[in-house]
Amino acid sequence: MTAGGMRSLWPGATIGVLGGGQLGRMMALAARRMGYRVVVLDPSPRCPTAQVADGVVVGALDDLEAARHLAKQVDVITLDTEHVPADVLDELARIVPVRPGAGVLRTIQDRLTQKQFLDGLGMPQATWAPVGSAGELDAALALVGRPAILKVRRAGYDGKGQARVEPAPETEGASGRWQPGPETEGASGRWQPGPETEGASGRWQPGVDAVEALAKLRGEPAVAEALVRFTREISVVLARGLGGEIQIYPIAENVHRRHVLHTTRAPAPMPETQRARAEGIAVTIAEALDHVGVLAVEMFELPDGQLLVNELAPRTHNSGHYTYGACVTSQFEQHVRAVCGLPLGDPRAMSGAVMLNLIGDLWQAGPPAWCEVLARPEARLHLYGKDAPAPGRKMGHVLLLDDDTDRALRTAEQVLAALERPVAAS
Ligand code: ADP
Ligand code: MG
Repeated sequence: MTAGGMRSLWPGATIGVLGGGQLGRMMALAARRMGYRVVVLDPSPRCPTAQVADGVVVGALDDLEAARHLAKQVDVITLDTEHVPADVLDELARIVPVRPGAGVLRTIQDRLTQKQFLDGLGMPQATWAPVGSAGELDAALALVGRPAILKVRRAGYDGKGQARVEPAPETEGASGRWQPGPETEGASGRWQPGPETEGASGRWQPGVDAVEALAKLRGEPAVAEALVRFTREISVVLARGLGGEIQIYPIAENVHRRHVLHTTRAPAPMPETQRARAEGIAVTIAEALDHVGVLAVEMFELPDGQLLVNELAPRTHNSGHYTYGACVTSQFEQHVRAVCGLPLGDPRAMSGAVMLNLIGDLWQAGPPAWCEVLARPEARLHLYGKDAPAPGRKMGHVLLLDDDTDRALRTAEQVLAALERPVAAS
């Protein structure tokens, strides 16, 4: 039973969120608009979600006692991040429903098990191989070829925990080897917003030789992937309800810079047959996981039209931010509906849209001048309430509503250029 049934949690119920980032924040805003209460678990009492929630339990995401404390005051638990130990979720599920469940997280939160799961389903992926230790590196690279990308198995996001291996071992010599450029973190210790910033953050690293690449991942177990020469990246964001019903959002076309999402355009221009193929892949995955809630499936589109699954996110997704403003039901409301066992909402887009991410680098000379965004009738400014802008950190986004999405993509670059100008000059 779902809508109207015993399992539905109606407005007035309390939703617990593990992790207090911007996804939790936008979900909390949607939930509270509908009359739900929201309590969040996060190490920071000032995290983006706590700022808009009814309550906060301060604690780490692997702090079982803190998580139990949360569970006792809510009717259902959901997640802002997949990086919550699945064992903690198992424990919480004894107290209150956890959606999506520990099983989904266990499959997805480790890149190795995620890839094995996708292989088992017959889903197309880039050639990959496990790199459990330095000793496995040569064999893995022999399989996937070069260039390759190494990714830590756990806890990576926004290109963190990734390093690219250059085409040939000979580049290890002084000539071809990557050198820190003027744009990288300088001796001053002050962060620099350069295109290839390297730092202790574990942020995506520019190409280096294989051993160096592995060292940058600090010896953590990883997987190696063939570098994919895609024509574009797309994602399918869908929601699966408690009764197994599915609603799919218009497909998003995504551009990444330095492995961090830069823009999303939706709907992605694409032939009907390709759309159906992408949706079919995402639906197969959602059903095989027995997922409940929003699920995002990132894909690479190849020159011949073939689609490879890049990675899965068992939650709302950055490439679905456009739905908050462009669609009848945002991904955040949809996630609330799914985990509360309500009927899913209408995912239809009311307008074409482009989303531009606002990354911490923009704040290097102080807060950007928002006039350029606010003065545009088609633009909506979203800021996540983070106090510490850091390079590569997602601080907010701009949504541009325009049925001419080519124009909106150009507008996004104009907006970005204006925000990059020092305040005094704008
Ligand atoms: P995360 O989003 O968790 O940081 P991803 O695996 O999605 O990790 O990588 C981030 C981005 O890096 C991708 O969206 C893509 O632009 C690029 N990337 C990742 N893996 C590959 C690959 N095998 N080939 C080409 N580009 C890749
Ligand atoms: Mg990704």
